[in-house]
Amino acid sequence: MISDAIINSVKNISSLDVLKIREDFPILKQLIHGKPLVYLDNAATTQKPKFVIDKEREYYEVQNSNIHRGVHLLSQKATMEYEKAREKVMRFINAKYLSEVIFTKGTTDGINLIASSFGEKFINADDEIIISHLEHHSNIVPWQLLCQRKNAKLKVIPINDNGEIIFEEFEKLISEKTKFISIVHASNSLGTINPIKDIINKAHQYNIPVLIDAAQSVQHYKIDVKELDCDFLVFSGHKLYAPTGIGILYGKEKLLEELPPYQGGGDMISSVTFEKTTYNELPYKFEAGTPNISGGICLGAAIDYINSIGIKSIEEYEKELSDYAELRLKEIEKLTPIGTAKNKGAVFSFILDGVHPHDIGTILDFEGIAIRTGHHCTQPIMDRFKIPATARASLAFYNTKDEIDFLASSIKKVFEVFA
Ligand code: PLP
Repeated sequence: MISDAIINSVKNISSLDVLKIREDFPILKQLIHGKPLVYLDNAATTQKPKFVIDKEREYYEVQNSNIHRGVHLLSQKATMEYEKAREKVMRFINAKYLSEVIFTKGTTDGINLIASSFGEKFINADDEIIISHLEHHSNIVPWQLLCQRKNAKLKVIPINDNGEIIFEEFEKLISEKTKFISIVHASNSLGTINPIKDIINKAHQYNIPVLIDAAQSVQHYKIDVKELDCDFLVFSGHKLYAPTGIGILYGKEKLLEELPPYQGGGDMISSVTFEKTTYNELPYKFEAGTPNISGGICLGAAIDYINSIGIKSIEEYEKELSDYAELRLKEIEKLTPIGTAKNKGAVFSFILDGVHPHDIGTILDFEGIAIRTGHHCTQPIMDRFKIPATARASLAFYNTKDEIDFLASSIKKVFEVFA
C-alpha cells in the first residue's frame, strides 16, 4: 500500500495552471449522467479549445471560399490562411521546406498515400517491408494490401511481455530484401514509446527509408523531423486539438519528388490534355481535389494554441500526471496493467479480474468518466497478450490529479457492483 504522505507529496506539485487551461475547453464543463465529465479518451480524439472552435466559425462566417484558383478577395484570403497553416505545421515539426508538408485526411490517409505511391514505384516481388507488433491497424492493413498487390512480404518486429519491441530481433529482420520500414512512435493501446531514433539510424545504415506514425506522439512530445532524420512522418489533426478530417504527411523533399501522385484530380496538375498530364509541384502534387480548408486553418490554430502553452510544458505536466496515475492504479488489487514498458506515455491499458472491459467502461460512464474499451484497433497486440480487450485511460494536459483520484475510486466501485 502506498502511503497518503507519498501520494499527497506527488499530488501537490503541478507545473501547469490546469484549472485555467480547462476554462479554454467548453466541452469539459458539461455533466454526463449528472456527474462532471472526466474525459480520459484522449488517445481516440482530443477535445477542442474555444480558440480552435472560434476559428472554424470565423472561417465559415467571413472567409469561406475555394482556394488556390480564385482571383476574388475571399479566395485569396482563404488561400493565404490555409498556406499560413502549412507554415505553422512546418515550424511545429521543424521541416526544412514548405513543400515537405502535405495536408491529408489524417494518419490513415497519410500511410495509405505512402504505401500506395512508394509501393507502386519501389516495391517488387519478394521485397520485404518491416512493421512492428505494436502497430495500429492503419499501419498494418495498407502494407498488407501492398504486399498482396506486389507479391512482397510483411515482416513484424516482435515485442516482449512489457510491450517493448525487441531491438535485436529488428536487427535480424533487416536484409537486402528490406525496402521500407513503417513504425509507430507511441503505441495507442500500450503507451510504449519506441526508440525511433535508433530504428531510423539503423535503417539508414542500409539506405532503407522509414515512416514514423506519430498519431500518438506529436501532441505529447517535441517532434523535430530534421533531428530525427525520418523520411516520412504522419499524424492526425483531431488528436492534436484540431478538427477531424485533417492530418499531415511530412516527407523529405527529395523522396517526395521521386514518388508518383496518389490520386488524380484538380489542383494536383500543372496541365492536362487528353494525351498527357503534367503534375503540379510539391506539395500540391499530392493534394488532389478541394481539401478540408477550414480543417487545415484550424490545425494551424491548434498549433498556435499549443505553442501558447509550450509543448515542453505539456510534456512535463503530462509526465507528472502519468506518474501520479501509475501510482494510483498500482494500489488497486486485481488490476493488471497491460503494457509496462520502461519508456511509456500517458496511456493506461488494464484489465480487472472477473470483469469484462466493456462492463468497466459502462460502469465508469455512469460516473461521468469516458474511457475506451476494446482492442483499440490493435488486435495483434490483444492476441500477443491473449486477451480480447482492455480498458484504456489516456491522458491530456487538461486532465487533473483529482480526476485520476476519481478514476481510481470509481474502478474500486466496479468491483463493488460485481461483488
Ligand atoms: N496510428 C495510431 C498509433 C493511432 O492511435 C491511430 C488512431 O487512433 C491511427 C494511427 C489512425 O488515426 P486516424 O484514424 O486519425 O487516421
